[in-house]
Amino acid sequence: MERLMRVGFGYDVHRLVDGRRLMLGGIEIPSAMGLDGHSDADVLLHAITDAVLGAAALGDIGSHFPDTDARYKDADSAELLGAVIGLVAERGYELENIDATVALQKPKLRPHIDAIRARISDICRLPVGRVSVKATTTEGLGFVGVGDGAAAYAVCLLRAASTSASGRDGDPKL
Ligand code: MG
Repeated sequence: MERLMRVGFGYDVHRLVDGRRLMLGGIEIPSAMGLDGHSDADVLLHAITDAVLGAAALGDIGSHFPDTDARYKDADSAELLGAVIGLVAERGYELENIDATVALQKPKLRPHIDAIRARISDICRLPVGRVSVKATTTEGLGFVGVGDGAAAYAVCLLRAASTSASGRDGDPKL
């Protein structure tokens, strides 16, 4: 059967500033600085959201939730990702797994990784064993390294959901 699996990729960057909360993967990380943006600026959830949209060829986060729209001011990125999961579910796909990397110079994310994975598992209704989150510094190099911002990269795999959500001949509705 064709089109059973689709891979998606997402990438996002946000600037680090004083006076903002640092939201990553749907949880708040204790930090002197936070990520700036129209929404809660959760760079990791934004990359995952774009990966899911990308796998379904449904555009990007900016086309679905424009930062010029007052409705998304300080938006909870967990809700945006949840909406996108619903969107691909309507088209007959569900998430198989997520793998993501956050590039941030400080604070160190390792102590928070399990909490982040658990939260993403909850948002995506996906067993935590299918949610991978890694963290890296950039060894002091580039905009991440000098502490100007954070970047996140994510890939995900979508697979055709059960036959009840599939199209006439068993193919998903994409
Ligand atoms: Mg973003």
